[in-house]
Amino acid sequence: MEAAPQGEAVSRLSSHVSRTNIFDFDRASLEAFFEQELGEKKFRAHQVMKWIHHRHVTEFADMTDLGKALRAKLEGRAVVHAPQVVFDKASADGTHKWLLGMDPKNAIETVYIPDKGRGTLCVSSQVGCALNCQFCSTATQGFNRNLSTAEIIGQVWVAARHLGNVPHQQRKLTNVVMMGMGEPLANFDNVVRAMSIMRDDLGYGLANKRVTLSTAGMVPMIDKLGEVSDVSLAVSLHAPFDELRSELVPLNRKYPIAELMEACVRYALRKRGTSVTFEYTLMKDVNDQPEHARGLVKLLREFDRRVQMKDAAKVNLIPFNPFPGTRFARPTDEAIRAFQKQLNNAGMIAPVRRTRGDDIDAACGQLKGQVMDRTRRSAEFRKRLQAPGARDAAA
Ligand code: SF4
Repeated sequence: MEAAPQGEAVSRLSSHVSRTNIFDFDRASLEAFFEQELGEKKFRAHQVMKWIHHRHVTEFADMTDLGKALRAKLEGRAVVHAPQVVFDKASADGTHKWLLGMDPKNAIETVYIPDKGRGTLCVSSQVGCALNCQFCSTATQGFNRNLSTAEIIGQVWVAARHLGNVPHQQRKLTNVVMMGMGEPLANFDNVVRAMSIMRDDLGYGLANKRVTLSTAGMVPMIDKLGEVSDVSLAVSLHAPFDELRSELVPLNRKYPIAELMEACVRYALRKRGTSVTFEYTLMKDVNDQPEHARGLVKLLREFDRRVQMKDAAKVNLIPFNPFPGTRFARPTDEAIRAFQKQLNNAGMIAPVRRTRGDDIDAACGQLKGQVMDRTRRSAEFRKRLQAPGARDAAA
């Protein structure tokens, strides 16, 4: 278990002594709550975690192995408040999407993707996103706020309840990827605490490598993540050259590719056998040309050399999923295959991610939710869309 920010959780608790949301606590901070605030033994905290995350019970009155007095005490001090399901939709291919209300004005999306022998949940970390990656639907919505730990783990809880998931027994949910709306490393503490619950046997019991955090490249926070957690790291690369990457992922202007790759090397070197996944969204005539494939091979070969492990760098090729107003297009299947072949010929494994759930707008890069933009960027974006030459408005 990674160190939990107990002090923070407890002090947040003291300012809301009346009713705190138990979903906000991982094991360590819930134990502290039981011991320091309720004067109860630690194992009571464990019982409550099991009721919530294994049995999906949210009423203290239904937690029948707790004594009456403790249940009454909990009623007075705490709640188990899950996100509200605004609607959910099932895709013909088994993918399932939820729109979850986080507050009266904002909602985020969570997607479950079943596949052979695995079930992956794509979880959001923020309401909207401020990073403005040019090919991303979430970015067009602007940014409102970070999600709390309760709002992040609440997404897992909603999906687990829907699926009838029971950790270690009825495992429907085998993987979580922090790849939904938002940049997870910009919401560090809440994301790390939520990932701790995902990996805890009293939570969802997922192995470290089955929880993946995907970042656009917040270099100092990658190092910080390496200090407190051991989850799988994925990096949204999308271009092997700085000029192009800075256009597609504006964060690259702050943390260019060389710095980003150094941080990835440091992350991988902490523990022998660690690989890093590099996501590469293929956009027609933008980053799908032979020189891009050559640049990618060079970059990732160098990564393998530095980490001293063959295939330490894994590539995921993601054909661009169009959304209204975008200036980008998906390459043809032939172009995608040609790009992949170039990587394969250089000895790299580079699977093409199958598009899932596109009939319900749940495919990669299509998540939108409902965001009351506080950055005003979405209003500007809409204005540009209405202007002449609107097809290029997202540029
Ligand atoms: S790709 Fe990720 S980091 Fe970039 S704008 Fe979209 S949600 Fe934010």
